[in-house]
Amino acid sequence: MLPSEFERLLREAVGESDARTVIDHLDDEPMLSVRVNPSKMDVSALREHFGHLAGDAVEWEPDAFYLKERPSFTTDPLFQAGAYYVQEASSMYVGALARKVFASKGTSEGLRVLDLCAAPGGKTTHLLSLLDGRSLLVTNEVIRQRATILAENVAKWGSAAVVVTSQDPSAFAALESEFDLIVIDAPCSGEGMFRKDEEALRQWSPDKVTLCTRRQRRILSDIWGSLRPGGYAIYSTCTFNRLENEENARFAAESLGAELLEERRFLPGRDLGEGFYCALLRKNENDSSRPQRAERGREKAAAAELSKSASQIGALLRDGYSLSVRGDLVKAFPTELSAAIKRISSQAHVISSGVAVATIKGSAFIPEADLALSPALRPDAFPRCELTLEEALKYLRREPIILQDEPMGYILLTYKGMPLGFVKNLGRRTNSLLPLSRRILTM
Ligand code: SAM
Repeated sequence: MLPSEFERLLREAVGESDARTVIDHLDDEPMLSVRVNPSKMDVSALREHFGHLAGDAVEWEPDAFYLKERPSFTTDPLFQAGAYYVQEASSMYVGALARKVFASKGTSEGLRVLDLCAAPGGKTTHLLSLLDGRSLLVTNEVIRQRATILAENVAKWGSAAVVVTSQDPSAFAALESEFDLIVIDAPCSGEGMFRKDEEALRQWSPDKVTLCTRRQRRILSDIWGSLRPGGYAIYSTCTFNRLENEENARFAAESLGAELLEERRFLPGRDLGEGFYCALLRKNENDSSRPQRAERGREKAAAAELSKSASQIGALLRDGYSLSVRGDLVKAFPTELSAAIKRISSQAHVISSGVAVATIKGSAFIPEADLALSPALRPDAFPRCELTLEEALKYLRREPIILQDEPMGYILLTYKGMPLGFVKNLGRRTNSLLPLSRRILTM
């Protein structure tokens, strides 16, 4: 039984006929869709991987398609390798808006982008795929536990041009006029998730709508100063009511001086996806007289002081990356972004950044698990060993595997050519370098 106030707000937001459609489809099975990681494979190869399960393309996202049935993602090595992300189709429209922003700028290079409410990482992985390695994504999640999940999903995606932070939106005041694009996928009353998540329906109340509306306005106000004049914001929610959507876009226009460029709603039953709202906003060019950050476009990598073994580690990476060492851990960043990452890291509460490459042990080093999953890894840096599905699942369960006829030392294991992780081959046995946190538990 739906709360009557929910129905009233729904009718007010979308009109009588669409409200009826939404209500009639609330008990339908939610649609399932996947988006490929283009730095690891292309969409046709992913379709082939899913075979008869692959359905129609998502109309607004060329790298995504629907699945006709739910496969076991956990036991799919390509999922574990970060080759694709399972993401609700409507919410991929944020990517379509981001594409428009980059097209209007004529480039996706050299940009600074913030994903403010980012866990578990749907929009973040999408943005990482749309930005090139010369642009930096700062991805933030205020709830620490969720930020850890975000960092894990980012590591699997494999981009080095990223900083994961965990702080309240108000803490970004330290980064004034920093970003060219800010995505605010706001915490909301979740009405669009009713058919996916019964808990969302149980927790709904008119008071929750009021509370969410206020919180969203605070978030918008807190972050507005971090958007550079002329920069863009994408505001989105997965709820239907006008208060959290159009009314908040109007709030941004009236109180913050934003220009509202586009609004779009997705409705279950009418569109092929769950309920979703997003708005594209632009900050007035004359909004602030503050100069832009000084080093834009002129960033030079700070020459990292590396120990001898760390400099050998550089040979593991493709060109264009710089290393930095903290304690024993060596990380890699796109060279052009090193200065920006350093500056942002000094102003924000950072959970992780760049790609973890190796841990130094005396004069040797141990490769980090994240390196295996990153396109920053030079393809010939380690001997590779292709596994069968059964062997790949054994590896992902952290069960012992033996590699005969393979060289001793570190080996990169692959499945369908996709790197899964490292082992150290000792001949009669191997030591797994797969972190316990990535071990899959299903049979
Ligand atoms: N963008 C994510 C994605 O695509 O996977 C989904 C984000 S979800 C809609 C909203 C996020 O906002 C949640 O992860 C939640 O923890 C976070 N959040 C909750 N309260 C917040 C606050 N006061 N300020 C900023 N973010 C908040």
